[in-house]
Amino acid sequence: MATSTTQDFNKILYTPLAEIDPVVQNIIDKETWRQFTGLELIASENLTSLAAMQANGSILTNKYSEGLPGARYYGGNEYVDELEQLCRKRALEAFHLDPSKWGVNVQPYSGSTANFAALTALLQPQDRLMGLGLPDGGHLTHGYYTAKKKMTASSIYFQSLPYALHPDTHLIDYEALSKQAKVFKPRLLICGASAYPRDWDYKGLKEIASREGAWLMCDMAHTSGLVAAQELNDPFEYCDVVTTTTHKTLRGPRAGLIFFRKDLKDAADLESRVNLAVFPACQGGPHNNTIAAIATSLLQVADPAFKAYAKQVVANARTLGSELVGEGYKLQTQGTDNHLVLWDLRPLGLTGSKLEKVCDLMGITINKNAVSGDTSAQVPGGIRLGTSALTSRDMTEEDIKTVASFLHRAVQLSLQLQKDAGSKLLKDFVKVATTPGSESYNKVKELRNEVEGFASKFPLPGVETKNLKKPEGLHDF
Ligand SMILES: *Cc1c(COP(=O)(O)O)cnc(C)c1O
Repeated sequence: MATSTTQDFNKILYTPLAEIDPVVQNIIDKETWRQFTGLELIASENLTSLAAMQANGSILTNKYSEGLPGARYYGGNEYVDELEQLCRKRALEAFHLDPSKWGVNVQPYSGSTANFAALTALLQPQDRLMGLGLPDGGHLTHGYYTAKKKMTASSIYFQSLPYALHPDTHLIDYEALSKQAKVFKPRLLICGASAYPRDWDYKGLKEIASREGAWLMCDMAHTSGLVAAQELNDPFEYCDVVTTTTHKTLRGPRAGLIFFRKDLKDAADLESRVNLAVFPACQGGPHNNTIAAIATSLLQVADPAFKAYAKQVVANARTLGSELVGEGYKLQTQGTDNHLVLWDLRPLGLTGSKLEKVCDLMGITINKNAVSGDTSAQVPGGIRLGTSALTSRDMTEEDIKTVASFLHRAVQLSLQLQKDAGSKLLKDFVKVATTPGSESYNKVKELRNEVEGFASKFPLPGVETKNLKKPEGLHDF
């Protein structure tokens, strides 16, 4: 607290946020209200713990610590060293890894920077890499480019080639991938996805990579929580490098991790290449507050309760999938092995953008997504749904059935709105939905009230919802 000797120019350092900056506080309050009264179905999101938020908001944010434990460019790092060592140890434990076979760098700021650092470690500029194509569920950082433009650093600084899903099964087309690799001769094969509801054949991928003399890297950003809980195949069995975000199914703060093998012929070389790629090649000082939050989240991941959580996430996703299929809807691969389902709206004559918009108005957050065979990347024909966040709010199968019925009603309403709009334009569609007085407007409002009533029965991690008051200035639609 400020004392009688505190300089006037420093008094602001002690003033709580709500007092010094009610504008920012109000934005946080509105966002808290949105999360509390809404249903979060974005597959890449989750709700981190009170402990992770406390660590993230701690005084560790003040400290510079470029370098690695025991080898820093700044003094005063004895406790930060202890923290980073602890975080590494917990990361290996969470994924059941032997510290003589695997090492980990816990400094990446996010999944994208972790991936670029991994590419920097494994490749020379303009070396060739292969990753799952973006429209087939891959991630931007796996080499995405369009006919006109190299869209990401992974295609600007490297030569990339996408592999694809089989057009009939919508599973990874390993046979075609193998043929492509024979011709393209990648130095790096990347597996892992952002929108793929099934599991991976790491053994088969390793055979292809070995044949071509390529590294095999898994980016398990979406599924790492399920991997840690051993609910999915283990990429560490066959991959040389594994990257992940820490904020998706892993349920930690926003950051990334890079795991690297220590049992290869040139293992010391790989370890130092990864570490030097993170710093100084791609990043500066680590975010120690985030590393503390990762450490405490990984402690939770190693607890048996997390296994039960992961099992429930998958059970909920399966229930969501089977409910939608039961209503006659089409899902890519008609189901799921993990936390997400891909809903193909094209048979309904509806775009992903329109359902996303109606759901947004109702307080259900989802995202439009390409489904295999989409001709336009601008107007994706599907929706991606995930159950990680709802499961963190205690929802189980019966609750998910209610959520599925909301989605079903959202589709019916969207079809009606599309008819009323009298055009295919999103702009006209939104106008009908948001013009007060109309029947559709009333329906949207009614659904929103129902969603609010349902969602606010569930707790929200890190927030005392009992005393939560509706903040000023909420946007009506
Ligand atoms: C989310 C995601 C990333 C990127 O993570 P950010 O933290 O948003 O940078 C990378 N790879 C995959 C497969 C992802 O799903």
